[in-house]
Amino acid sequence: MADNLRIAVVGAGMGGLAAALALAKAGHKNITIYEHAPNLGFVGAGIQLAPNMARILNNFGCWEKIRSEAVQCANTSIREGSTDKELGYVDLGYVKDKYGYPHMVGHRASLAGGLCEGCEKESAITFKLGSQISDVKFGSKPSFTVTPSRGGDSYNVECDILLGADGVKSNTRVAMLGELGLQGQARDSGQAAYRIMLTREQMQNDPELLKLIESDTVTRWIGEKKHIIAYPIHNKTIYNISTAQPDVNFAGAPDAQYTTRGSKKAMLEVYGDFCPMIHRMLDLVPEGEVVEWKLRVHDPLETWVHGSTALVGDACHPTLPHMAQGAAQAIEDGAVLGVVLAPARIADGKPETIEKALKLYERVRKPRAEALVELAAESGRAMHLGAGKAKEERDKVFAALKAGSGKVPDKWADADVQSQVYGVDVIADAEKLCEEEGLVAKL
Ligand SMILES: Cc1cc2nc3c(=O)[nH]c(=O)nc-3n(C[C@H](O)[C@H](O)[C@H](O)COP(=O)(O)OP(=O)(O)OC[C@H]3O[C@@H](n4cnc5c(N)ncnc54)[C@H](O)[C@@H]3O)c2cc1C
Repeated sequence: MADNLRIAVVGAGMGGLAAALALAKAGHKNITIYEHAPNLGFVGAGIQLAPNMARILNNFGCWEKIRSEAVQCANTSIREGSTDKELGYVDLGYVKDKYGYPHMVGHRASLAGGLCEGCEKESAITFKLGSQISDVKFGSKPSFTVTPSRGGDSYNVECDILLGADGVKSNTRVAMLGELGLQGQARDSGQAAYRIMLTREQMQNDPELLKLIESDTVTRWIGEKKHIIAYPIHNKTIYNISTAQPDVNFAGAPDAQYTTRGSKKAMLEVYGDFCPMIHRMLDLVPEGEVVEWKLRVHDPLETWVHGSTALVGDACHPTLPHMAQGAAQAIEDGAVLGVVLAPARIADGKPETIEKALKLYERVRKPRAEALVELAAESGRAMHLGAGKAKEERDKVFAALKAGSGKVPDKWADADVQSQVYGVDVIADAEKLCEEEGLVAKL
């Protein structure tokens, strides 16, 4: 059995951690995660934990702890930013009965910490933190250079399987597509996001704001070219706010710049036409703590696989956050890699068998992840409409929803879309495809 292949994972984000954990659970014994950051401090922000993500985390044995620190969303309310008038309301209570897991929201640190703890329990997984990867070479025995972030000599590593889970800025993607004569750089989406966390103490003297943090509601306020989405996390002690607006503050910024320290004045101006309650909420952000993120995406890649190397997560399907599925999809990638690369399925360990398995991973994952990237963009376009015919049509759909039936323009909350997203078991799909394609586990 091929359980001692040298597997290198670049990046300890959600995709890299999930892939390493899935491979260890599948029986691999020699997995190394190379992470540029010297420690695993994760971005302070909230994250939606959709049922398709929860199902996989449960398989990994990580869900209980993450769930215990999360908040269940009972419903979502989509509102007009300028007036706070409710346009649409969706009761999410049915999600647990239908998909086995409720729709929850949590802290990124809790999700990443849960995955990390899972990895740390596996003796098969070694972390190499503070290790910057560059100069990736492909083929049957991929190799790369490791440069210690805190100084010291660089060294070369060869492996049998390389997984590039190095995020939207992925060096692995750029190198892979470069070698194939394709374009690998991510492109601007034209949108940027503020990510804000307010404490209960900050909100408690304002009854309207206190009601928000005490709710079980994911609230989205929409307006022309922008929106705000917010929900309580951390046992309702933190209100997580994430926005999307034109990326004008990045004008003239170098292409490589992803975050900028924004001015509070500029943030309040962007949301100047939103209602007074939202102004009071944004005004609670301390001066100097406004950080804006540029949202970059990529057109569908021609391939995710080259020889014994595959891309994972945002490295191959970076998305706008409007479907709240980026991390969920990265985790699905990891889970599917655990199926197709199970030692018993690639028993001879030959490069051609590994490539065949990686191609099956791509077949299961690429159409689904790319459809969700497109859905997120489409949902953003619907929410960001300005005055005109298209907005009138959209508002008729909202009116029908309020009257009791119909589609939800905010697509993540639409029952039919949810059935495509939450109702698919990618592990079962991958197992079925392996059987069909003769990648059968040899016991
Ligand atoms: C505003 C916003 C809100 C979002 N909300 C949600 C949500 O509610 N639900 C959801 O599911 N998703 C959400 N997402 C998406 C989600 O955050 C990402 O899709 C997910 O984190 C991607 O994980 P990843 O592991 O692919 O990449 P990353 O998390 O970016 O991890 C990549 C890792 O690789 C490391 N790395 C990079 N280059 C190198 C190198 N050369 N050498 C070594 N290491 C390297 C990085 O340091 C990093 O740790 C949101 C995104 C944004 C921007």
